[in-house]
Amino acid sequence: MDTDIDSWSKVIFHVDMNAFFASIEQRDNNHLSGKPIAVTNGEKGSCIITCSYEARAFGIKTGMSFKEAKNKCSNLIRCPSNPKKYTYASSKIMDILYHISPDIEIFSIDEAFLDLSNCKKIYPSLIEVAYIIKDKIFSALNLPCSIGISNNKANAKFAAKLQKPDGITVLPPEESENILANYLVKDLCGVSNGIGSFLNHHGVFVCGDMKKIPISILGNRYGNKGRKIWLMAQGKDIDSMTLKDKPPKSIGHGKVTKPNLKNIYEIKRIFHYMSIKVAKRLRVHSYETNTFIVGIKTRDFWFSKKYKLSQHTNHDKDIFKLCLKLIDNFLTQRHGVYQVQVTAINLEQINSQKDLFFRNQDDKNNIDNMIDDINNKFGELMLRPARLSNEFESPDVISPSWRPKGCKKSL
Ligand SMILES: [Mg+2]
Repeated sequence: MDTDIDSWSKVIFHVDMNAFFASIEQRDNNHLSGKPIAVTNGEKGSCIITCSYEARAFGIKTGMSFKEAKNKCSNLIRCPSNPKKYTYASSKIMDILYHISPDIEIFSIDEAFLDLSNCKKIYPSLIEVAYIIKDKIFSALNLPCSIGISNNKANAKFAAKLQKPDGITVLPPEESENILANYLVKDLCGVSNGIGSFLNHHGVFVCGDMKKIPISILGNRYGNKGRKIWLMAQGKDIDSMTLKDKPPKSIGHGKVTKPNLKNIYEIKRIFHYMSIKVAKRLRVHSYETNTFIVGIKTRDFWFSKKYKLSQHTNHDKDIFKLCLKLIDNFLTQRHGVYQVQVTAINLEQINSQKDLFFRNQDDKNNIDNMIDDINNKFGELMLRPARLSNEFESPDVISPSWRPKGCKKSL
């Protein structure tokens, strides 16, 4: 590590937590530490959300069914996921990183890019910042992370992967093309099995082969994404940091139900809960809209409708009314329900001035604000409609696009 990263014109760190959810479970449950564990959705979850390094040693991977994984490792322990714990830890981590450099792009619940190019005068040496980050995260949360350092996001992300868990890897800009040349293109971020096979078909197996084909082959087939991959294989990245979250295009909540659910009361209950969640997120981020898409998934198809209201809203009662309309229409179909979805689109930022002239909304707003305050203080759904007094069988799932302190960019 004798490259002087302080002399680079651009310095990007990629910070990636190691087996994030599984590490949190091992941290909090002594008997799980050092053991192969798999985090699943609930006690009976059949799909592996993530697993510990001890489980990975047996070839167990995210997305694998628990049954298949158990065949590979009979001692595998199933852990129900704790989304609230993970989002709490994520918010803390992002807060620590933000204080290292405000030029941060949160990439996922457990990954972020930091641009340190403008921090050279603050820190005596930028390489030390990597140790500071690891130390701060470990002291605050007792969790390990890997850090990749290079001159662009793609290189930094690739570098972080090279030493896991707990590593710090520097990929010097002038050497990145040579170092990458020997790695499989499938190891690059964004190269799916489909793109991988397409590249193999064109004689590209390792990154060094990429130069043999013109950029247009990938561009014509995959557009900008393809061009980005062509450059990425050669250590170049056209993407700059997205420092501010763009306003969301939609806010939605969905839930997978019990398979083939026909109990109308239960279907209404789930829709009511989704309406409350969507309305609350609209209010938290000061949005309202008059357009909603409500959908029900049967075994074979989605039955969904777009509804337009005469007035903008962010109240769950207005949204739930639309769900009831859809349920009424759906009942004529006699299909079982597998999933429901409520999404607000065409979002508009609330103009506080407008409230002055629409007094009739005030009572509704006051009641909702009061409910939000109480629930924020005493826990989600502390105040809730009687219909939701019983717990749901399936637990809430953490969305892959969940971000600390922000809305999702889309569904
Ligand atoms: Mg990770």
